[in-house]
Amino acid sequence: MEFFTGLDLEKLEKLEKLMSEKHDRTAWIQGGPAQCKTPAVQRDSPQRFVLLGAPGVGKGTQAELLCERLGTCHLSTGDIFRASRCLTPEERSPALDAALDYMHRGDLVPDSTVLDIVRERTRCLRCGGGFLLDGFPRTVAQAEALSELLEEQQIQLTAVLNYDLALDKVVARLSGRRTCPGCKAVFHVTARPPKVPGVCDHCSGSLYQRDDDRPEAIRTRMEVYEKSTKPLIDYYQSRGVLVTIEAEGSPEQIYERTLTALNGRAA
Ligand code: AMP
Repeated sequence: MEFFTGLDLEKLEKLEKLMSEKHDRTAWIQGGPAQCKTPAVQRDSPQRFVLLGAPGVGKGTQAELLCERLGTCHLSTGDIFRASRCLTPEERSPALDAALDYMHRGDLVPDSTVLDIVRERTRCLRCGGGFLLDGFPRTVAQAEALSELLEEQQIQLTAVLNYDLALDKVVARLSGRRTCPGCKAVFHVTARPPKVPGVCDHCSGSLYQRDDDRPEAIRTRMEVYEKSTKPLIDYYQSRGVLVTIEAEGSPEQIYERTLTALNGRAA
């Protein structure tokens, strides 16, 4: 998703929004010595998750629900890269500069760069509010490096949540998605239709289908996902931390299923 286009003022507003969400993520988004304006509520047993799931399984919505209700902080590597586009070259670390080049080309950022960026933010992993890693790790090499990092910090993952949905259902979900070019609001022709077909409820923009939401492009994205990220499922399965959740139904149903799966595991 393209967050930062157009005027600098717009960019700044979006960056501010990104950092003033319910769980302030300034330390994660900015890295370095930056502090969160609102420190996370410290928990006796903070929950620490990794989220896995192909594009279109509803992982983003589940991340929101889990963070809102379990108090964890949403640590997305993609958000760091998007936010860093607002910074001047002098403000960006060399690791971030390198990452943006890859992102602009639509490639995955190399493991070494992603790991430098995550290591710069190790204190977010130690945070007593817990975390939910989203978009990281994306390769087995990243997962191995994360394990080492967590071991060094004597931190254990609560679980790796793997949202699973059959390919034809993913295609149905994503190919029905319609995006507003103005305010970037997202609708769905059947699941979340706009009040007037083809027109944004918020700013009256003409809704369009993103190129990467067309069925052929979706299949290609799924192939890329299967190739690069699916090995992570085997990796975490063999370590006994994988919890697979069927991502069928409403966000609330999937959320309830997630809690049931976690509680079943704890019992
Ligand atoms: P996302 O929002 O997670 O889809 O990430 C957006 C883009 O950021 C990806 O297409 C990659 O270019 C880059 N990216 C984010 N996280 C990672 C990661 N863990 N490994 C490699 N590239 C990443």
